[in-house]
Amino acid sequence: MPDDASQLSTIPVKNPRTGEIDYHVTPPTTDEIVKECTSLRAAQVDWANAPLSDRMGIMLKWADAVEANRDAIIKAESKDTGRWRLSSESPDAVIWGIRGWCDRAEGIIENALRVGQSSTMPSIKLTQQLVPYPLLGVISPWNFPLMLSSIDAIPALIAGSAAIIKPSEVTPRFIEPLKESIAAVPELDRVLTYVAGGGQTGQDMINNVDIICFTGSVPTGRKVAEASARNFIPAFLELGGKDPVIVTKSADLERATDAVLRGSVHATGQICFSIERVYVDDSIHDEFVDRLVEKTNKISLNDSDIHKGHVGPLIFEKQAGIIDRQLDDAIAKGAQIRSGGKSQDIRGGKYVPPTVVTDVSHDMTLMRDETFGPVMPVMKFSSIDEAIALANDTEFGLSAAVIAGDENEAMEIGKRINAGGVSLMDTTLTGSILRDAEKTSFNLSGLGGSRMGGASILRFYRKKALMVNPDMPVKLQDLHET
Ligand code: NDP
Repeated sequence: MPDDASQLSTIPVKNPRTGEIDYHVTPPTTDEIVKECTSLRAAQVDWANAPLSDRMGIMLKWADAVEANRDAIIKAESKDTGRWRLSSESPDAVIWGIRGWCDRAEGIIENALRVGQSSTMPSIKLTQQLVPYPLLGVISPWNFPLMLSSIDAIPALIAGSAAIIKPSEVTPRFIEPLKESIAAVPELDRVLTYVAGGGQTGQDMINNVDIICFTGSVPTGRKVAEASARNFIPAFLELGGKDPVIVTKSADLERATDAVLRGSVHATGQICFSIERVYVDDSIHDEFVDRLVEKTNKISLNDSDIHKGHVGPLIFEKQAGIIDRQLDDAIAKGAQIRSGGKSQDIRGGKYVPPTVVTDVSHDMTLMRDETFGPVMPVMKFSSIDEAIALANDTEFGLSAAVIAGDENEAMEIGKRINAGGVSLMDTTLTGSILRDAEKTSFNLSGLGGSRMGGASILRFYRKKALMVNPDMPVKLQDLHET
């Protein structure tokens, strides 16, 4: 048994399927974080000086080590999240992430190393140098524990940074088996550390790193941005959303209802770019709702057998209160629950059935605040201009979707929506752009450069310009003041 002092400093962790506390986290002290960051920083010098091909070779060894430890990682992450299928794919985020970046990194970096001459002073020769930030701090949320803890660190390590990563205290079990895979690659172990801890650990990290990548909620993102600004380090923030979908009168209803249901309910709605507002043309609204309700009623909870059913328990039980309060507020203001409803306790887990709500308006929190659950509020519109105004009437701007009669119609609408990624003729296609297109969030949904596309890896470099004058310098006497 731990003594009283360490007992006080441990964080209890609940199992989302049973509600039992079956795990504890002992966060590192501030001194331990300082020591760890000092050691990572020292090792980063050789890491950054090694050729890119050497770093990529070491990262590929890590991909193999994750593959070798796959079962243990999946088992632990599955306990963290209460879900099986998505956790069973989580090691692929690291394996494919590393292999994908190893395919693309060299070309992207070479392209960024522009060499040439000045256009304003043609005799001056220019060389661009990329200098990696020594130490990246990653603070990540609970909804996709392994994937979101590694998505920024992989390109940063390839760029030549060291990394310290703090996943959410809500889902820390996967860290242990993952650390075994890191320990299997000693060259990587020196420059990559996972720590289990809570908010204080995150703040300690911000005080000891050179650059921050944060994924999480807007309120915590604000705290991270403030602390980073005080330390004068760049912070890349990937925050929440309230993603809209517009369904026009010419849309195919089969396509539209399938895309909305999947986009809202997949992963129990615990995806930052889940569809959370559904705007449907007045003329097809009733038929759309009937079909959506019919399909929703066929979706089953994944309560008794983790391998069966679609909708798993909420990972973080406090989310149930947020969802219930939003539904209560909507009902009090005249909304109709057409399918599903509030959260249910089942054998210690908190479950929210897929829920269709109609007669909603923008004075309801359900249409304004992030829900992070499988809820589909459907609202009518009578013109495309109105639909776009409704979609843009939000303090967020993460992503959005348009389902129209054809791609061209959807594209014209998509171009007018204020969001970083817009899926056309489907929903939630953000995962398709990983290394291929860039996106930056609008409004409160994020801050900083793109996590996607080639720009992602270039975030981890300081850009240095080396300027050569091969001619004799201009003499001061030749510069006329008037
Ligand atoms: P939180 O903002 O609550 O937590 C995110 C991380 O920040 C956790 O590791 C948390 O630690 C840590 N943290 C908490 N307090 C502080 C602090 N004061 N200083 C530094 N770090 C701190 O988010 P959730 O974990 O609840 O995740 C859900 C949110 O994440 C949703 O809003 C969702 O939209 C967003 N998200 C955004 C994505 C995107 O790409 N835009 C992707 C996925 C999720 P701990 O949990 O231990 O308290």
